[in-house]
Amino acid sequence: MATRVLILGGTAQARLLAQQIAPQLDVRLSLAGVTQTPINQSVPTRRGGFGGAQGLARYLREQAIDALVLAIHPFAARMPFNAAQAAASANVPLLRLLPPPWQSQPGDAWHIAPSLEAVPALLGSTPRTVLLTTGRQQLATFAQAPQHHYVVRSIEALPADLPLPNLTSIRRRGPFSLDDEITLMEAYAIDRLVSKNSGMDSVNAKLTAARELGIPVIMVARPPSPPMMTVSSIEAAVDWLRGQPSHH
Ligand code: NAP
Repeated sequence: MATRVLILGGTAQARLLAQQIAPQLDVRLSLAGVTQTPINQSVPTRRGGFGGAQGLARYLREQAIDALVLAIHPFAARMPFNAAQAAASANVPLLRLLPPPWQSQPGDAWHIAPSLEAVPALLGSTPRTVLLTTGRQQLATFAQAPQHHYVVRSIEALPADLPLPNLTSIRRRGPFSLDDEITLMEAYAIDRLVSKNSGMDSVNAKLTAARELGIPVIMVARPPSPPMMTVSSIEAAVDWLRGQPSHH
């Protein structure tokens, strides 16, 4: 029988990995269920939380999962701890698929924020037009700096009651090309970009656009994560999975 793999996903890399191994392995994909209109997945997919680390451990045992791959967004803060705990308790090998963080290049003007909550202070008191590419969660944190015009790009609609007086919502799903990003930044006269350091290729064109247009970037550093076996490429994850035995 084929090795049974659970991929904790929600990223393009998770979807591509699932597609690639589906012909040989018994793959299930799990999504948090926060995106109302997810892209159709090509493998059996479940949606919603497991009920913490214990719930995930129970699922791993009950479904006789042979290998667990954590391919969630680099800023998903809780799931890495849950996955590490659940994999240890259910004795299931765990791999994280995580792109390396972006590094600034010559010509970049980056300011590193230790967390999203630290960004408003770094934007300064002068009113700016700020492109927020950090998702629709935690937007209320920008209420403490209401002098800026926030242009928010997100997949889903924004909550109606956000306490931001000067807000433009743009609904788009990546990937974005360099032309897309330059057009957007010029159209709204963006003079600050806020990005999480996801390191994901599908959304890195904004950094090149900011460099070319001379726009300073506030780069939010990644949250802490427990130590675990990590690879950065889909190919390396496939190799690792091929080495995991089936117990069925
Ligand atoms: P989180 O803090 O790590 O997770 C919160 C809870 O959501 C987890 O405890 C778990 O619930 C559930 N969950 C998360 N990922 C799941 C998955 N793949 N399958 C099933 N349940 C999952 O993460 P978050 O920041 O709330 O993000 C939620 C999802 O959105 C993640 O899948 C992530 O990849 C995606 N996402 C996050 C960001 C971001 O910046 N945080 C950006 C883009 C996409 P239980 O404890 O009940 O199991």
